[in-house]
Amino acid sequence: MLQPAQILPTFDGIAHGTQLQTFGCSRKQLAAAARTGAIRRIRTGVYALPHTSPAIVTAAEHGGALTCAAALRAHGVWVLPEPDGEIHVWMGSAGRKHHQRCVCVAHYSPGKLVLGTAPVTQALIHLYRCAGHEAFFAAYESAWNQRLIGAGDRARIRQELPPSAAWLLDLARGDAESGLESLLRLRLHVLGIRLDCQVEIDGVGRVDFVIGGRVILEADGKLNHEYSRRHKDLIRDAEASTRGYETLRFDYAMIVHDWDRVVSAIIAALARSRA
Ligand SMILES: [Zn+2]
Ligand SMILES: [Zn+2]
Repeated sequence: MLQPAQILPTFDGIAHGTQLQTFGCSRKQLAAAARTGAIRRIRTGVYALPHTSPAIVTAAEHGGALTCAAALRAHGVWVLPEPDGEIHVWMGSAGRKHHQRCVCVAHYSPGKLVLGTAPVTQALIHLYRCAGHEAFFAAYESAWNQRLIGAGDRARIRQELPPSAAWLLDLARGDAESGLESLLRLRLHVLGIRLDCQVEIDGVGRVDFVIGGRVILEADGKLNHEYSRRHKDLIRDAEASTRGYETLRFDYAMIVHDWDRVVSAIIAALARSRA
């Protein structure tokens, strides 16, 4: 006979007692498992594993499923880092709120409400509403790239977002390899600047991005600080310059948090390349 603690992983570590009963767990068994600490009773009729993530438990205490950035991250989607630690909860179309006073952010949208983690499609729709177009765009492309959303899901998202979001969905593509690439393409698109990714340049090799056909942009990660890597980068920069390219290097933090500085460097380099 299956124990409740063996069934719960199927449900993201949290479920209604009635869901567990469909696997043959009696109410008595649930109560016994809660007494021994094998499972935790979260609220009336809701049970979790002892190690179920605190965010999922809080969302269930509130009355729904964890959604937005935290849910997308749990699905492996890239999401822009955001400062707040609020719990975002999907409440179905009209779920009942169980918290009396709290700072949870509730999202109502149609669909079969489950506890645990909201599905990727739902979480993306919610993210657009509360984190804005950049965060949504990067997460949407990341989910698409990882085949976490298919054509049907994308159509559903288009249907649920306001018409003012259509241009973002039109711009999005399924081959963006990183959140940084998505973010750069979106921000440069707004300025009317073309971005090519993972470009092979003769004598230089593969570069992260080429902007406006002439300026190489390399997004440096931590590893680039190693001496041998730095030496190779300097050779690449020299080869690029010989071939008429200018190389700009920024790190992730600059691109994400210091965009004004980055964009003015890009625009100046583009102007030089056309001079
Ligand atoms: Zn709450
Ligand atoms: Zn939200």
